Amino acid sequence: MKVAVVLFTRDLRVHDNPALSAAARAAEHVVPLFVHDPALPAGRNRRWFLDESLTDLKESLRRLGADLVELRGDPVHEAVRVAKAVGAEGLGLARDVSSLARDRERRLEQACADERIALRTFPGVTIVPPDAVRPGGGDHYKVFTPYWRAWQSRKPRDVEGAPRRLRLPKVLPRSWFRDRKVHPDAAGGETAARNRLTGWLRHLEVYDQFHDDLAADRTSRLSPYLHFGCLSPRELAARVEGRAGAEPFIRQLCWRDFYHQVLLAFPGLRREKYRAGAADTWRDEAGAFQAWQEGHTGIPIVDAGMRQLRSEGWMHNRARLITASYLTKHLRADWRLGGDHFFDLLLDGDVANNYGNWQWVAGTGNDTRPYRRFNPVRQAERFDPQGDYVRRYVPELADLEGGAVHTPWKLPEARRRRLRYPAPLAMP
Ligand code: FAD
Repeated sequence: MKVAVVLFTRDLRVHDNPALSAAARAAEHVVPLFVHDPALPAGRNRRWFLDESLTDLKESLRRLGADLVELRGDPVHEAVRVAKAVGAEGLGLARDVSSLARDRERRLEQACADERIALRTFPGVTIVPPDAVRPGGGDHYKVFTPYWRAWQSRKPRDVEGAPRRLRLPKVLPRSWFRDRKVHPDAAGGETAARNRLTGWLRHLEVYDQFHDDLAADRTSRLSPYLHFGCLSPRELAARVEGRAGAEPFIRQLCWRDFYHQVLLAFPGLRREKYRAGAADTWRDEAGAFQAWQEGHTGIPIVDAGMRQLRSEGWMHNRARLITASYLTKHLRADWRLGGDHFFDLLLDGDVANNYGNWQWVAGTGNDTRPYRRFNPVRQAERFDPQGDYVRRYVPELADLEGGAVHTPWKLPEARRRRLRYPAPLAMP
C-alpha cells in the first residue's frame, strides 16, 4: 500500500499502538491524524490533559520521521477528506465502546466503503477486546468475579514496540499542522505516562497493602493516561506481570475492561439504570447536592474527597466510593447528577468506568449487594485512621488531632462553632 491514514482517538501513543504499527508495516507513507471533535464531551481538566498529550504525540511522531495532522470538525468527514486528498488506500483506528465511538465507526465504515478506502479497526483501548470474552448464552458478563476468571484464561496479544520509522507523503498542506510548544514538565502525554509508570513500579509490591490507604496515596495515578491511551493497558499489564504484588493491580485493570464490556453491551449506561429491577427514585434537593459538590456536607471524609476532586481533577478510589455512596444512599440524590459532576471534573473521566462505578455504588448496576451502604465515619476510621487525608483537604479542621477529625459534631458546642465547619447534612 502506498499511503495509509491512522486516525488517533483514545490511543495517543506510539508504543504498542496496533493501528499505527499496522499502518507502518503496510504502507510506504503514513498520515497520523487527530480530529478535534466539538461534539465530544470533555471538561476543562481533560481538555488541557488532551492538549499536552497531543503535543507529546506530535513530538514522538516527529522523532520517528512523521508529524501529527490536526483538524477540527466531524472526525468521519475530516478523516475521509484527508484520506482522499492524500490518495490513501487504507484508514486504521482503534475500536472503542462508547455510543459516540461506535457511531463514529459505523459512519466511517459507510463513508470508506463509498470512497473505496479499506477501513481497518484494531484493539488497544482495553487489554482484552470487550467482545472477546463472553459467558455461555449471554452477550456480556454482568458480575465481575466470573469475568475475572474468564479474562485471566485468555491468551493476550503480543505487545508491540513503537514503529522504527514513519514517512509522511511528500506534500501536505501547511494548514493541516498546528504549532505546539513542548513543556518539559508537562503532566499529560505518553512520555509522562512512561516516566510515571517507571517511577511507580517500586510501589507495586505494597499495592495490595496500601491501595485503600487514603493518606498514603500509593495508587499508580495512571488512570488519566489509560483514559487517553497515552499508555497501553496491555503493555502496562505486561510490564507488571510476574513481579511481586502484580495480581491485585492487574485485577483493577480487569475492572476497567469489565466496565468497557458492560458499556458495549449496554450503551445507555450513562443515563439508564443497568439493572432493570433496581429502585431508581431519588430526592431532588438542590441545596444538598450543591453542598456535596463543593465539599460542605459536614462529613469530613466526604468533603475531603470532593475538595480533592475540585483541586486536582482526580480523587482516590476509596474516596470516590465514599462520596458517591453518601450522595446516593444518605442524601438520596440521583446517581446521574453525581456521575455528571465527576465526569465534568475528572482527568480520567471515562463513560465506562465512571458511570459503571456510579451505578455499582447507587445499587442500580453490577454490584451483587446493591443495598450496601458505606458508613462514611467507619470508612474514614478504617482508611484514614490518623485523619491525615482529611486535614490535607479540609483546612478548617487542620487543628483537630488524629481520628477526632472525622466526627467534629462530637466536639463541645463552643469549639465546634469556632471551626466554621457545617453540621452534617445527613448523619452517618
Ligand atoms: P490504581 O489503583 O493504580 O489502578 C490502576 C488502574 O486500574 C486505574 O488507573 C484504572 O484504569 C483501573 N481501575 C482501578 N479501579 C477501577 C475501578 N473501580 N473501575 C474501573 N477501573 C479501575 N476510573 C476511571 O478511570 N475513570 C472514571 O471516570 C472513574 N470514575 C469512578 C467513579 C466512581 C464513583 C468510582 C467509585 C470509581 C471510579 N473510577 C474511575 C475507578 C477508580 O476510582 C479509578 O480508576 C482510580 O481511582 C484511578 O486511580 P489510579 O490510576 O491510581 O488507580
